[in-house]
Amino acid sequence: MYVHVFPNPPPRTRYAALQEFLATAGHPAYRLRQILRAVHERGSTEFADLSELPKPLREALLEEFGPSVLALRPIASEHGEQVEKVLFESRQGARIETVFARYRTGWTSLCISTQVGCGLGCTFCATGAVGLLRNLTADEICDQVLYFRGPRQEEVDSIAFMGMGEALANPHTFPALEMLTHKELHGLSPRRITVSTVGFAPGMRRLVDEHPQVNVTLSVHSPYDEERRSLIPLQQRFPLADCLEILDTHVARARRKVYLAYLLIDELNDTEDHARALAELVTQLRRPGLFHVSVIPYNDAVGVNPAYRRPPPARVRSFIAALRSSGVHATRRQQFGGNVDAACGQLHARYLSTAPSPQAAPP
Ligand code: SF4
Repeated sequence: MYVHVFPNPPPRTRYAALQEFLATAGHPAYRLRQILRAVHERGSTEFADLSELPKPLREALLEEFGPSVLALRPIASEHGEQVEKVLFESRQGARIETVFARYRTGWTSLCISTQVGCGLGCTFCATGAVGLLRNLTADEICDQVLYFRGPRQEEVDSIAFMGMGEALANPHTFPALEMLTHKELHGLSPRRITVSTVGFAPGMRRLVDEHPQVNVTLSVHSPYDEERRSLIPLQQRFPLADCLEILDTHVARARRKVYLAYLLIDELNDTEDHARALAELVTQLRRPGLFHVSVIPYNDAVGVNPAYRRPPPARVRSFIAALRSSGVHATRRQQFGGNVDAACGQLHARYLSTAPSPQAAPP
């Protein structure tokens, strides 16, 4: 964990490179702080706009790092009900999607990606069908946020690591969290950040140790091991019971609520028996009142497996009612609208197959 105060940026990030560049060229250390302020307080992401720097330094930065501080540039966007999906391209040509939602209540939320594709192969997931092309860098993860708060000047109330990729399988997620929550950088409250995982246990342990205030959502999708393995192959390596144990310990220690996501698929995992078995798993934990089940009806409009269908609304209601009658907190998850649904693994990965590839792995 990077416990230092900036300027002492996490290694292999843009700010570490800037710091080294400035030091090598003999500039005073406060120049980095000036750049951080301009970027994160004013939202200036073009070196040419950093008027607090001497002109020769601006020109030198531009020559060394290119015109923009951002490691990603937006190349397309798509609008749906209450949401906008932006397609970004990295300097090496990798393409990822970010979803910005503005709810009727005024609340805004960003759903960000952490990998180009994903190697975990969940069978309901468009991103998993592509395979893992590479991890995003910490800068690329953070720049999805910086783009909206900087050039777009949007208020971002919450952030979900719930786009493409398994966030906890990417080690760069951790320096990204450091930068997002650092008061001299993005300055976001960790309580407004949610990391979603299908159960990458080593990353879960690290997350709850290093960032106990960050919200965690574990995708469950079935209370039965065999069936869960058919949906989430990672179950084979890190069984649900181990993941629940990590969360149980975290909840008892941090007194933080955690979320269990349950993707409801027609005639597969939507029976009363499933609800009862799930309730049994939750109620035997030490603090079941701090576990909340978010039920997400499968979206077959963007799904990849034609065998999986969306359950009828009555079944969704009765599944939630069965959980509640067993003493489990459960709600239907508020979903993004229309064709840009963004439940984990449901971001449509069609752009990946058209991206110029192979993408060189960043440092
Ligand atoms: S659901 Fe998440 S972890 Fe599973 S393949 Fe898709 S992106 Fe990866």
